[in-house]
Formats: sequence, structure tokens, C-alpha cells
Amino acid sequence: MQDGRARDAPRRLRTLRRVETGRLTGVGPKRAAALRRLGIDNVFELLWHVPRRYIDRTRQTPISELGDVRLADGEELTVIADVEGISTRQIRRRLTLHELVLTDGTGRLRASWFNRPGLARGAGKGATVAASGKLAWFRGRPKLEVSALEVMGSASNKADTGVVLPVHPASADVPTWLVRELVREALDRTGELADPIPPDLRHRYGLVSRTEAFGEVHFPTDLGSARRARDRLVYDELFLLEVALAMRKASYEGMEQGRRHPPGGPLWESLDARIPFALTSAQRRALEEIGADLASERPMHRLVQGDVGSGKTVLAAHALLAAVDAGGTGVLMAPTEVLAEQHHANLSELFAGLVVPSDETLLGERPLSVALLTNRTTGSERARLLADAAQGAIDVVVGTHALIQDGVDIRDLGVAVIDEQHRFGVHQRVALRERRSADTSVPDVLIMTATPIPRTLAMTLYGDLDVTVLDEMPPGRRPIETILVPSTGEGPATVWAHVRREVEAGRQAYVVCPLVADSDQTEAASATATHEELEAGVLDGLTVGLLHGQLRPAEKQAVMAAFREREVQVLVATTVIEVGVDVPNATVMVILDADRFGLSQLHQLRGRIGRGEHASTCFLVADPTTPEGQARLDAMAGTTDGFELAERDLEIRGEGTVLGARQSGVSDLRVTRLVRDVTWVQRARTDAFDLVGRDPHLDSPEHALLREEVLDLVGDDVDWLFKS
Ligand code: ADP
Ligand code: MG
Repeated sequence: MQDGRARDAPRRLRTLRRVETGRLTGVGPKRAAALRRLGIDNVFELLWHVPRRYIDRTRQTPISELGDVRLADGEELTVIADVEGISTRQIRRRLTLHELVLTDGTGRLRASWFNRPGLARGAGKGATVAASGKLAWFRGRPKLEVSALEVMGSASNKADTGVVLPVHPASADVPTWLVRELVREALDRTGELADPIPPDLRHRYGLVSRTEAFGEVHFPTDLGSARRARDRLVYDELFLLEVALAMRKASYEGMEQGRRHPPGGPLWESLDARIPFALTSAQRRALEEIGADLASERPMHRLVQGDVGSGKTVLAAHALLAAVDAGGTGVLMAPTEVLAEQHHANLSELFAGLVVPSDETLLGERPLSVALLTNRTTGSERARLLADAAQGAIDVVVGTHALIQDGVDIRDLGVAVIDEQHRFGVHQRVALRERRSADTSVPDVLIMTATPIPRTLAMTLYGDLDVTVLDEMPPGRRPIETILVPSTGEGPATVWAHVRREVEAGRQAYVVCPLVADSDQTEAASATATHEELEAGVLDGLTVGLLHGQLRPAEKQAVMAAFREREVQVLVATTVIEVGVDVPNATVMVILDADRFGLSQLHQLRGRIGRGEHASTCFLVADPTTPEGQARLDAMAGTTDGFELAERDLEIRGEGTVLGARQSGVSDLRVTRLVRDVTWVQRARTDAFDLVGRDPHLDSPEHALLREEVLDLVGDDVDWLFKS
């Protein structure tokens, strides 16, 4: 990190991305690799690797005074002390006693635990440790029953970091004290950091400078200062993200080359006449919003959020026909083949008999054509389809990712509908836009998701989209009863008896398994084995079908068709049926090893039933082994409201994984906890949109650094960002 810059010029934080950890004292290739496994490749990432907690030394009890401590039953305490002695004793087979003698200058304390030899790793004589556990009394002396042990300093490297000790996320190869030392060196050598947040915003919230924030988050003077440092970093990362989203939104809005697809054309009108039900008021409102976007020259970029079964398909159908009414092509992209095929079947039926104008026929019209393009569309079929699409002989194309492969050129792509967008990333959205002939206009994009995203998350992740929420279910839905069933005892027998009764009453059932085929790796139920067992056993005499992703496409199609036609009464499946499959006659959902599924997945699966006029039941068969697994099942039993479940999910899982699901092209939040930091999300969003409103391309000199950092953040996606 040697550099020739003038000492008084503050350093740009982003330049630290180019400084590899190998440049720090004591970091060779091996340590660099170990750091990389912790997600730290360079000094920038090291600085953002903030402590996961702090130990406040002012609240530590000296060992000599432990006798006076009154702890509530079961309460743990933490002692920071040096290791004076260490011993290991085999008590009996499979029982090893580890014992440390700790000293803090005021007295000695024995600290012990059984087995878990790894706990003492690095805790040699002279090391400083933070030992947590319960106090037990032994012959009038306290003894610590250790539950957690953190090595805070090696014998040569004391933990003399003031009154508040940071505990950094660490690993077996990189103990927390080593992280701390590396951070300290990095901070020392970095010096002052330039600050991209405008001073008026910093003052508004009393935010500390970036330099102070990094210094104090890692080595706080006191706990209050650690909190202020964290607040600053939370605002820092949220503000940059929101500025990027605000600019993206502004760039969509600034695109004038959009094409108008006014609603209410002949096809749109005839669709209204065909729909066998009255739209809900939420659907009507959504259609108005979508209609206004379609009518405008500004390209639509709208997200429709609606729980499973809220009736998004009819919105998609309208948007697609608006494209055809305007003489263009509508495209619908779905995340799986099963779903694409189902959309294709539904739309073909819904659009059957519709005609479009044509110069090439005597009557001056031809039937509206709906094509399907997936990876199984190959050879001459694919060639013909692509030729037709390029000539504009196809009006609506339904497909999977295959739609965004090279060689696909859709003439006059007017409206692109993306279903279940949580499976697609931003890059794929952009790619779909590009699937139009070079000389045509920017398509209207409508994204539909059944993943109810909590408001905070939606504001953060979809800040670049207009959002419509379908917050009303079509009438006549019967509530779904959800029952948790242990896999042992009487439970399963009752479940299968219920399935048989429903089938005998003319209904159908789903049985969902986590795996396709039996595996040595896990005991989870496999669809193949379950199918065999049920067919030959408890469900003997019923028609039991099997559906999973490894079947050949034709087989998948056949079994889905048979289920739709009620020839198959019970469908054993993997999560391929998770999205979109719509068989209103199905009233039972049995999910085996249900604790292995994520909450949103369980919710999606359950959404396959309760779609018709009959009451439905969902059985979650599981013996959860983790608190999280249990929490997910309890949440499922507690509510069918997707938004409520999404909030619960966020609480249970934290945001890392939730964000991960979006492959958003922007880096994940490192410090922010969305559930906890809602207020900061709102502030950052308001401030960012406000700033971009005043300086849309961040051209003003005082925003130069901000502009640089936003560019960094969005990486390859810059083309849309700074287009003037
Ligand atoms: P989503 O895609 O949002 O999960 P769908 O569009 O597949 O939901 O609709 C679910 C079911 O509800 C379908 O069978 C559809 O025909 C029906 N449906 C949609 N809107 C209405 C409505 N307004 N009234 C009655 N039934 C509706
Ligand atoms: Mg759907």
C-alpha cells in the first residue's frame, strides 16, 4: 500500500479494491487464500468486514470478584483473560475434558468443557481469550463451564484494543485477532478517506465521516460510538444503491424511443368479452396502470406483485394483445419449461379464434398465432419458428431462457412479460430487451412476481421499477387448512387416508418431495421412490403420476396433461410444480420433509391448491431438526398471507440469502440489516431520488466522487446509467 500521493489528499475508498491482502504484513499466499474464503480479497473488502459483536471491557468482572456476581439462572458471562495453563484429559471413552487456567491479574479461574478440541485452537499459553459460559461453584471456587471461546490475541500479540473489544467474523484459519490486526494495519496505512455523501445529508442525520466510521466500527471508543459508526456505514451503502436505482429509473423514464401500445384495441376488447369472470377491483386498477404505461411513449417498466392465485395471467394476456393490436409481437418469458408450456396452453385457449389483419389472405385476416420456444424446440422446428418470428408471422411467443439466446430475433417486439421474476436477474431482463431487431423501439416490459416481497426489500431492490400490487384475491376462494404432521407414528396414515377420501370424492392431490431419486447423501424423500411406494402401498388402486425435472419434456407434458384431465388422481412431484401450475380441482397438498424447503417455496407450493370451489388441506410432513426449520413450519401453519410470510422469512433468514436470490448485479449489502434498518432505507431512498432529480447524471463537480462510486457499484450495467 505504498503510494506516492500527497499525504493531505484523502484516499478514494474504491482504490482499495486494487490492494490485495497479500500486501499486508504476514499475509502470504496461504493466508490470502484463507482470507478469500472469508470473502476478503482486498483491503476494501477487509474494511467492510465489520465486527459481528463487541465485548465491553468496562462491564467485565475481575476474576477476584466473581464470587460477588449474582447471575440469573442460566445466564452466561464472558471473561477476558490470559491463558496460563492448558490441559486435556480423557475421562472415559468418547469423553475428553479440556481445561484452561485463566488469569487476569486479579485471580485465577478454571474454564473447562467436554470434547470439542477445536474450541481451544490457537489458545496456547499466553494467548488472550474471551471465554463465555456459565459459572459453576466447585469447593467454594467459581469455575467456568465454557460454551464459546474466542482467541482475542496471541501470546506475542496482545488484545490491547481499549475498553471495547471487537469480535470480527472469523474462521478456523483466520482467527478474530488476526482479522483485527490486519484491519488495524489497513486503517493505519489508508489514512483519511474521501467522502461521497454530500455534507448537507451528513449533517441532516449527524453522520460521522467515512474515515471515522471505519475507524470506530472496528475499534470503537465506546459502544455508542460503534453504533454511530455503523449507522453511517448503513446509510453509506444504502444511499449508493438507491442513487444507482434512481438513475436507472430516470434513464428508463428519459427513453423517448418507446412505442405506444394503446389499450382498448380490437384484440384487447375481444379478450375482455371472453374472460369468464369479473375482474377484481385490484385487477382493474392494475390494468389501468398497465394501460397507461402501454399508451405512453415512455417504455413501461412495471413490476406486478401479486400472491399466488391473485390472477396475474389475465393482466399478462392483455399486455401481450396490446402489442399485437399495435402491429407488433408480444413475448412471455417463464422460468421453467413446465410453466412455459402451461402458459402456452392457457394462452392458446384464451386466444383461440382471435384474428389479426393480414395482407396475404383473401379475407384480409389470419388466425392469431401463439408459439412456444424452449430448449426442446430444436432443429427444423426451431428454424421455422425463428424465421417466422423474424418476419412477424408470429404474434405471441411464450418461452423460457431459450428466448434470450443468440440467434433469436423477434420482429417488432412490443411488449415483454416476464413471469416469476425472482428466478431471473437484471441481466436477463436487459438481455430480453435486446432480443428485438436493432432498428425497432424499446419494448414495454411487465414483470410479474408471486413472491410477496416485504415493502422494505421491494423499496431497496426494485427501486428502479414502478410497482403495482394485487392485494385482493378473486372471490370464492376457500381457505386452506395447514396441518403439521410428524413423519412417525399415526400421522402419515391419517394423511394418506385423507388423500384417498378426497380422490374418492372426485378431487386430486399433490405429493411433493425434496429429491428426484434416492440418494446416499440424504434421507430426504425422493419423488421416484415415493411414487413407487404409494402406488403399491397406501394409495393402491388410485392413479398415481410422477413429475420431476429429469423426465424427458414429452413425458413431463404428458403427465401434466393427464393430471389436468383428471386421469391422474395423485401427482407425486418435485418442486417443478412450484410455480404456476393451475389445476383448480386439486384440493390436497402433501409436502414430505417439508422442513427442507424455504418458506417462500413452501408458500408457492401451497398456492397450487385452494384454487377452486372446494376446501383444501395442506399437510407438512416433517421432523424439523433445526430451530429455523421449525420456525418456517410454524409460520406456514400460522398464516396463508404471502406478505406476512415474506416478513417472517426475512426475520428468520436475514437478508443475505434473500438478496442473493436476486443476482442483482449490484453487490450485496454488507452492514445493513433490512428488518432493523427500515428507517435508513427510507431516508436513503428519499435522499437519493431527490438528489438524482436535481442532478440526473451526477454531472455537478461536488457529485464527482459519488458518480465514480455508483459506476463501480453497477459494474457492467453502466450503459443505461449514464446515457444522456
Ligand atoms: P397467478 O398467476 O396470479 O397465480 P392466475 O392468473 O393463474 O393467478 O389465476 C389463478 C386462477 O384464478 C385461475 O384459474 C384464473 O382463471 C382465476 N381467476 C383470475 N382472476 C379471477 C377473477 N377475477 N375471478 C375469478 N377467478 C379468477
Ligand atoms: Mg401465474
